[in-house]
Amino acid sequence: MFSIHDESQIITLLESHGHKKFRYAQVENALYKNLITDFSLIETLPKDIRELLVANCFYTSLTLHSEKTDPEWQTTKFLFKTHDDRMIEAVIMRHLSGRNTLCVSSQAGCPMACSFCATGKLWLIRNLEFYEIIDQIMWAVHHLAREDRKLRNIVYMGMGEPMLNYEHVKKSIHIACNKKKLDLSNRRITVSTCGIAPRIVDFARDFPQVSLAISLHAPNDEARKRIMPVENTYPLDVLMSAIDEYVAITNKRVFYEYIMINWVTDRLEYARELGELLKNRLAHVNFIPYNPGEGTDSDGFLPTSKMIIKKFQDTLDSYGIPSTVRHTMGDDIDAACGQLALKEEGKSLATETGKTIKKPQE
Ligand code: SF4
Repeated sequence: MFSIHDESQIITLLESHGHKKFRYAQVENALYKNLITDFSLIETLPKDIRELLVANCFYTSLTLHSEKTDPEWQTTKFLFKTHDDRMIEAVIMRHLSGRNTLCVSSQAGCPMACSFCATGKLWLIRNLEFYEIIDQIMWAVHHLAREDRKLRNIVYMGMGEPMLNYEHVKKSIHIACNKKKLDLSNRRITVSTCGIAPRIVDFARDFPQVSLAISLHAPNDEARKRIMPVENTYPLDVLMSAIDEYVAITNKRVFYEYIMINWVTDRLEYARELGELLKNRLAHVNFIPYNPGEGTDSDGFLPTSKMIIKKFQDTLDSYGIPSTVRHTMGDDIDAACGQLALKEEGKSLATETGKTIKKPQE
């Protein structure tokens, strides 16, 4: 059995049974335009092809473990179980402007171990297949369609480091943007990385229209190293030269994510250092108030006060760098990346190992 989103497998299947290639266009139309999930109901196809699809393909690889929507109906968080019982998360964000964004996961767990992040506490469990990413997207498309809404934006900011599962992320972006499939604009997709420098340049060449977000979170090597182990492999100067190359290729503004943690990332001299670092660059900074969650605050991190965040913004303003403070949607439903999965995987890893969460064997 294989995924219905695997175009080359479906075409091979159809051709091996003597069907013409145009039949795939009918499958595509049924799946992505008419949102049919049951292959036996694709009326444009003859009965034998419908039976062929039912016998050989699955519509989705994910089962819904839980779904939570916040009282203001701004965010819905899905916790999915993969075929091998791993937990992954996806979050729909409904913005007041009417725009709907989906945050998708690219890995189960994450090897990058950023100290402020729930997913990092799981380490890497495995990479997701491209169709597991598409399955999250299709789930959201259907969910929003039932509310008479459309998915407009996708951000690869859920569980995992997308640049470490690049081939599958790439394939999923191609499916999302394909006019005959989901037909989303390249410009409405954002991929976020904690700083896998060589991949940033590949990404610029492969997707010059797709937006890039950098999880920066600190303006110098020492401060970054304290919370982001990636700094040991790709220090700030290496990261910034990759970003400069990205901008030279794409001429696009880069989004810098900066988490505000009391006394850790929010010292006012850091605001000035951040200003110096970004002042001659095409940059926009997103401040993210730290979201402490159950099982994630082992470092004793606390959120920064609104007053300090405002001071940071004023300092960046004086360097001519635009910034916004991310509205923390869905705090009460653990909408920060990895928090629900950590709770569930924490239970299952504890069962598997007889201990609490531990790093899988190399
Ligand atoms: S912040 Fe991103 S890169 Fe860092 S551990 Fe979490 S998921 Fe991985």
